[in-house]
Amino acid sequence: MSVVGVIAAGGSGERLGASVPKAFVVVGGKPLYEWSRDVLRDVCDRVLVSVPPELSGVSGQDFVTGGASRSASVRNAVLTEPDANVYVVHDAARPLVEVELVRRCLKALEGVEGAIAAARVTDTVKETDEGGRVLRTLDRSVLWAVQTPQVFRADALRSALSADESVLAAATDDASLVEEAGGTIAVVEAPRENFKVTTPLDLRVAESVLEARC
Ligand code: C5P
Repeated sequence: MSVVGVIAAGGSGERLGASVPKAFVVVGGKPLYEWSRDVLRDVCDRVLVSVPPELSGVSGQDFVTGGASRSASVRNAVLTEPDANVYVVHDAARPLVEVELVRRCLKALEGVEGAIAAARVTDTVKETDEGGRVLRTLDRSVLWAVQTPQVFRADALRSALSADESVLAAATDDASLVEEAGGTIAVVEAPRENFKVTTPLDLRVAESVLEARC
């Protein structure tokens, strides 16, 4: 069985305010994306990295040209390795992922189309109307904050990613596209520490955790 890793690193990372795309900001001595690429390499036969078009010409790397949206970037990588049996999709923006979590996701793929890392919601979550007035308080015992890795049976992901560009652009993760196509997705409980680097503060926190691990 061939397991192909896909690192989504094609975003610009505007909220981080750095001079290079977020995945290429150096953290703890190496570009952000390399932390999770190196973790995925322990579990996958090959790892592709979807990068912004201006960086895709860099040689000696398994770089693929990213797309206009996150899911389009994932699709471009998937099309590069169309014979995989399983894809492990991960955001470069989550450098704290550990091999053990990826392995648990792969194990949970038994009998389902996808298995996704997610943390239990610890805040109270409310739904509002457009004016910011509370409509209802949600039952957080059944809510999950979804992360990556997200692992999929290859045929289910490939067919979900063949949706129109506009559908891909509206998706905030790949599992939602597989769900939409009728696939079953299992949730794998993950630590909140596997957070997504979005702001300069996140970057500092990630850096101190990575340095403490080395
Ligand atoms: O913007 P956000 O932090 O949600 O992006 C999540 C991940 O998707 C990041 O690792 C980013 O590099 C990636 N991405 C991508 N292609 C895009 C936009 C985002 O690979 N067009």
